[in-house]
Amino acid sequence: MNNDIIGYKTGDNIVDLQTIEAKNIDINNAIPIYFNDSEDALEIIRHSAAHLMAQAIKEIYPDAKFYVGPTVENGFYYDLKTSTPITDKDLKGIEKKMKALAKKKFPIERYEVTKAEAVEKFKNDELKQEVLKMIPDDVVSIYKQGDFEDLCRGPHVPNTKYLQNVKLQKVAGAYLGGDSKNEMLTRIYGTAFATKDSLAKYLKMLEEALKRDHRKLGRELELWMFDEDVAPGMPIWLPRGAMLRANLEKLLFSAHIRRNYEPVRGPELLRSYMWKISGHYYNYKENMYFTEIERDEEGKEAEEYGIKPMNCLAHVKIFGHKTRSYKELPLRFFEFGTVHRHEKSGVLHGLLRVREFTQDDAHIFCTPNQIEEEVIKVLDFVDTIMQKFGFNYEMEISTRPEKSIGEDEIWEKATESLKRALDNLGRSYGVDEGGGAFYGPKIDIKITDAIGRKWQCGTIQVDFNLPERFDVSYVDEENERKRPVMLHRAIIGSFERFIAILTEHYAGEFPTFIAPIKAIFVPIAESHIEYAKEIQKELLEEDIKTEILASNDSLNKRIRNAEKQRVGYVVVIGDEEVENSLVAIRDRKKREQYKMKKGEFIEMIKKLSEVKL
Ligand SMILES: [Zn+2]
Ligand SMILES: [Zn+2]
Repeated sequence: MNNDIIGYKTGDNIVDLQTIEAKNIDINNAIPIYFNDSEDALEIIRHSAAHLMAQAIKEIYPDAKFYVGPTVENGFYYDLKTSTPITDKDLKGIEKKMKALAKKKFPIERYEVTKAEAVEKFKNDELKQEVLKMIPDDVVSIYKQGDFEDLCRGPHVPNTKYLQNVKLQKVAGAYLGGDSKNEMLTRIYGTAFATKDSLAKYLKMLEEALKRDHRKLGRELELWMFDEDVAPGMPIWLPRGAMLRANLEKLLFSAHIRRNYEPVRGPELLRSYMWKISGHYYNYKENMYFTEIERDEEGKEAEEYGIKPMNCLAHVKIFGHKTRSYKELPLRFFEFGTVHRHEKSGVLHGLLRVREFTQDDAHIFCTPNQIEEEVIKVLDFVDTIMQKFGFNYEMEISTRPEKSIGEDEIWEKATESLKRALDNLGRSYGVDEGGGAFYGPKIDIKITDAIGRKWQCGTIQVDFNLPERFDVSYVDEENERKRPVMLHRAIIGSFERFIAILTEHYAGEFPTFIAPIKAIFVPIAESHIEYAKEIQKELLEEDIKTEILASNDSLNKRIRNAEKQRVGYVVVIGDEEVENSLVAIRDRKKREQYKMKKGEFIEMIKKLSEVKL
């Protein structure tokens, strides 16, 4: 089956074989879609799997009615209703039925009827009537597999035999048409792949992801919390999490200084007047928070302020606060800038989607001729950081969209500079033609974590717009005023998001160079606590945090508890260690215990904690 063609791609459209035959579509210039786990093939397979699920449900629950069954990222769902409610425990049975139907190798056939005929055909199905209301065409298509028929426009695989690797995942509720005034339907989520292997691999990854969920680990390791009483979507950092974050900040701060960036800092609140100049007031207002501050002493006259959703404006002002010469360029301002952006409460998700976060934000002011070299430097910076954390990554350049500002010549120069900087690295990159912002081209960096998930983190964005809007300039060799180009760039994106990703990437076992707690001491008896404190104090002198677990619990229980904290070193202290200035280290991964001289241990931890990027 592997080399079978299951559809064609014409432009951005996926067309199935049934439609090609019915409409006599010319496939000379179309790209064939083979039966495999490519994105386009999965689109057809997963959508068809939604219908297979409907067919299976119809056999088990003959009164079932179906609304819509689209694909979503990583799978599909179908909204439906049955008189006997379907719950998670029924999914196994439905899945079994699906597999049986797939094995029957029903051809999936397509035919057309007029809309009036369809309305008549589905007259007892109020959900299909809703679907028909949304279709503007006079002719609609119906797909048939076995004796099951469903209204749909495709695309579908040609036969149910292609749908053997399916998995139903969960039952949820969904309002008809997404409107809370309407009735609640049952939504069943599932996924499908071409091959058994891909499905198994995906399910294994999901299982692993669940174990690594940063929300669960954040709680267990006491790193951060959220409190609705304080503010939804605004993280509260607990001591260990704040230490983890501080370690990351320290590392990145010095990495910026070493690369000749200038630290700067702008205010959290800026007059709305500023957001009007930048355009955010008109284009980004619904994502911003506002407040008022009195203008005069009696407080009679109040003025509106916007809480910053980005750090750019103060940086532009810092550039413009005095006359700049070409000799100063490029100027690189950086700030760990805390920003607020409104997110609807439904989309908030642990540290990954929050309303307050801190970006590793920088703005580089340079001449158009300097773009390439600056971008090369940023990409090199990105590479150093990602390698240190063990991430693979991919890059994509987005070019000029139809609606844009700025001169052709500068756009071309900037885009070429970005491309040359990427070429210089000698690695492949994607191109999103026309996907840039209206004010300049950009490069996005997507990282892949330890279990193969991809995350969008860093970005480098060329901007011709803000320098113009705030009328900043520098004086060139001929003593003429020139407009600088501005590069916005972030490498980790935000500390919140990056820490969420790191937590899942490392499954909470942070490497020593960023770990909040480098070791936990477990003294066997009271008499050993003093010695543990002594080592702890020596390490504190070096800014290194450790903990001592000296509760009344049994030794084994304390060791287990220490290991649950996922620290690199659990250090057991007994008579022998105290007498001979030793430490006994338990290696969690190797399940071994080994001894070391106290001095050597301190040196080792110091060395592992001292990292320069
Ligand atoms: Zn369909
Ligand atoms: Zn910016």
